[in-house]
Amino acid sequence: MSPKPISGGCLCGAVRYEASGPPIPGSHCHCLDCRRHAGAPFVTWAGFRRGDLRFLTTPPREIAWACRLRGFCPQCGSPLTIRDGPDAEIVDVTVASFDDPTVVTPVAHIWTEDRLPWIHLADGLPQFPQARSREEPSRAAAPWLYGLTSTNFWMRLPVSTSPV
Ligand SMILES: [Zn+2]
Ligand SMILES: [Zn+2]
Repeated sequence: MSPKPISGGCLCGAVRYEASGPPIPGSHCHCLDCRRHAGAPFVTWAGFRRGDLRFLTTPPREIAWACRLRGFCPQCGSPLTIRDGPDAEIVDVTVASFDDPTVVTPVAHIWTEDRLPWIHLADGLPQFPQARSREEPSRAAAPWLYGLTSTNFWMRLPVSTSPV
């Protein structure tokens, strides 16, 4: 567990959240849907277990798109969350909305086939044309990695925890 909770929120402060559990490091996603969600060239995500993330204010307003739920501040529109559905175990949060985005380090670039040509990647992170898949050889080393499938669904790799 993290020694102190991660907190964050939207631009205007109408949505504030706190996460008690450790973030699952995520990827920089260059897909078109993330671009439009954020109005940015790419979006950096980190995941939290559903039970670890709580909203201290009104929750994000969610829009269903491509079988995912994308969350925005209902007042200012800041992009905040994405999840596979209401019962999804993991909720991804925009790392840039953290109060301290340095607490998590992204692990890969995904959907680089959609990367804008004027974004030049030189950080040395692994790059994936589309999603990280279950067949990734690095799965054993990093079972918490996840990404997008070629059908544009996020796909989670199982998180290895013992059942309670
Ligand atoms: Zn707001
Ligand atoms: Zn994306």
